[in-house]
Amino acid sequence: MCGLFGIYEHSNAVALTETALKLLQHRGQESVGIASSEHGKISHISGMGMVLDVLTSQKTKQIQGNTSIGHVLYSTSGTSTVQHAQPFVFDSKYGQIALAHNGHLTNATVLREELEKNGAVFQSNSDTEIIVHLLAQSSEKNTIDRFLSVFKKLEGAYSLLALTEDSLIVARDPYGFRPLSMGILDGKTMVSSETCTFLPLGGDFVRDVNPGEMIVINEHGIKISTIKKISKPAYCSFESIYFARPDSLLYGNNVYAVRERLGKYLAQKHPIKADVVIGVPDSALPTALGYAQESNIPYSIGFVRSPDIGRTFIEPNSEIRRNIMPIKLRPIQRNVEGKSVVLVDDSLVRGTTMNVVVNLLKEVGAREVHVRISSPPMIASCHYGIDTLIDDDLIASRCSIDEIMDYIMADSLAYLSTQDMLKALDLEKRSLSYCTACFTGEYPKEAQPDLVNLKCHP
Ligand code: SF4
Repeated sequence: MCGLFGIYEHSNAVALTETALKLLQHRGQESVGIASSEHGKISHISGMGMVLDVLTSQKTKQIQGNTSIGHVLYSTSGTSTVQHAQPFVFDSKYGQIALAHNGHLTNATVLREELEKNGAVFQSNSDTEIIVHLLAQSSEKNTIDRFLSVFKKLEGAYSLLALTEDSLIVARDPYGFRPLSMGILDGKTMVSSETCTFLPLGGDFVRDVNPGEMIVINEHGIKISTIKKISKPAYCSFESIYFARPDSLLYGNNVYAVRERLGKYLAQKHPIKADVVIGVPDSALPTALGYAQESNIPYSIGFVRSPDIGRTFIEPNSEIRRNIMPIKLRPIQRNVEGKSVVLVDDSLVRGTTMNVVVNLLKEVGAREVHVRISSPPMIASCHYGIDTLIDDDLIASRCSIDEIMDYIMADSLAYLSTQDMLKALDLEKRSLSYCTACFTGEYPKEAQPDLVNLKCHP
């Protein structure tokens, strides 16, 4: 996860970046930062917390510049402290550089050891700092060669924005694990983790940054280079199911439409006699609607969500996640009392949240709760930028479906198969290839993680 936004040479760059980060807040709620360049000098601010709290007007006045990059963080490596807030800004022998990264490097350990042998001193345990040191130690003389040679050394997932004193640099790893799109506003180039930022800013979507592409934007124009070509990209399937906003266009598909289709397939494959279909807010609501349409069971709103409490999945601490649920979600008794309920959610990771949610419904009188999950059982860790925990913490890696059903106290439980999930993602029609490693345990060949333990045990 993490959200990125950048804009090149726009007179309102800082304010636009701030607004875009608010629109990307769902991708990270731990920290936020903006870096901006003016006359070859980079200024920046960052802090722990939500965009609205950190980027106050007093603070944003401190940074100036027509080219800006911004970042909201959800950490998958490193601890949750202000040292990890991005963009990272550092001085190098080639001038100042600001760096914002979404993803996770699978060869971080090897690269870090090599860098330390060469005298690098790390300030954090973030894998993004590895990129900082690689750039600082590079002997390439010009910007394009320097960045290109560094990107060629990276393995795993990176969607990345960098600001030098005169250029905005954009890169996406050869597999394209994490999304990154380009837009245009007043003739100026924008780059964003998701397309949902472009329209509210008054701009338009242009195209996705292609997997393996590095784009350098400066006063000489736009120069595109290839980092590395891979025969089959591995777009993250879980982005469409859970992370992305429904008003984004992801890999050419509208996310809302994908989720509605997931719900329809779920209803076809796992029907049940029930009185009402509800979804766990927010990401599963279109999926629940799709299930209701296909099954002809009435759709209803099952929960009120407290607006100030963020996405549970991306809370870094599992204790916080569990305690937050009964405050974050309140069941609407009137809509479920005495009823047999189909409860649709996008995923079941640890099972702890679903256990609380099912209990909340039963406490207010739901007669039966039938849980339907619009993704396959999650059995393996993600090593590409999403914190799905180690394999043993994933409930489906050690428990059967019946055991999980008992644990979450549901009356029935069913998942969508990998094949049906891929159908809903429109794989065949669009000839796209997705990463499904967390559901299948099959990691893309040339992006194997350092450590893989896929054994399922009851
Ligand atoms: S392992 Fe899962 S979450 Fe990670 S990139 Fe692949 S599909 Fe996405």
